Amino acid sequence: MEYGTLYIVATPIGNLEDITYRAVRILQSVDVIAAEDTRHTLKLLNHYDISKHLISYHRHNEDVRTQELIELLKNGKNIALVSDAGTPAICDPGEKVICECLKEDIHVVPIPGACAFVNALICSGLDTDVFLFLGFLPLNKKNRRQKLEEIQNSLQTTILYEAPHKLQATLMDLKGIIGDRKVVIARELTKIHEEFISGSIDELIEKSIGIKGECIILIEKSELKKMQQNFEEISLKEHFDYYEKQGFEKKEIIKKIAKDRNVSKNEIYKYFCDKN
Ligand code: SAM
Repeated sequence: MEYGTLYIVATPIGNLEDITYRAVRILQSVDVIAAEDTRHTLKLLNHYDISKHLISYHRHNEDVRTQELIELLKNGKNIALVSDAGTPAICDPGEKVICECLKEDIHVVPIPGACAFVNALICSGLDTDVFLFLGFLPLNKKNRRQKLEEIQNSLQTTILYEAPHKLQATLMDLKGIIGDRKVVIARELTKIHEEFISGSIDELIEKSIGIKGECIILIEKSELKKMQQNFEEISLKEHFDYYEKQGFEKKEIIKKIAKDRNVSKNEIYKYFCDKN
């Protein structure tokens, strides 16, 4: 028997009109829809008059369900996988069943559509050439610090997902590390209260008090990029100013410059002492 196909179908991130003709046709034609939250997906299906057998596929039953879905696919059934919003497998369940299908030579087909961070990025006014999508910051302290350090020197626009009740805490964490880089919050995309709020981190901390709805944080790329790529062309003073603007103390700045340039702290210290 010929294997069925697993379709990874993007669904709207708010506005129900944001779904493609092809996605609707696939949802109508498959044998089964695997959904992160079946009640949530039912609203979308009702809107498009689609009646279909639904199976739940979420973070807590991924292992078991993956095996069940693989069995169905091997029996020739076509399946559409959807999440609550946007593109499955982007900070949503999906990866597991997709990997298993690929191992089993089962055809996996993407059905493109909305993805929250792409829409946040394109209207943010920040550099869209290269970007770093980090999803949700880890909660574990050590891992979180590592990610924050990555953002500190990120060579690209950084994009983070965040839950509204954790937004203030995350902005506070960013405050100490991104200096005066511009920040944008993209909120409630495609919904009635859609808005893009931009400014310095201090401004955003103030503007986002009590903010509700779904949010994405975007951070301008670090100027340090240019320095790191071209240390010879950047004076020690520029290097010093960069860190000073971020609020670091002189001693800490000297340490950082020495590390960046791979020279001894004493050498940098001497330079600044001689200047004074
Ligand atoms: N799979 C989804 C996608 O394709 O973007 C992401 C799902 S993830 C669990 C949910 C996060 O995406 C939210 O916490 C928020 O950061 C972001 N998000 C989803 N919908 C959004 C919207 N309409 N406006 C702003 N952010 C949104």
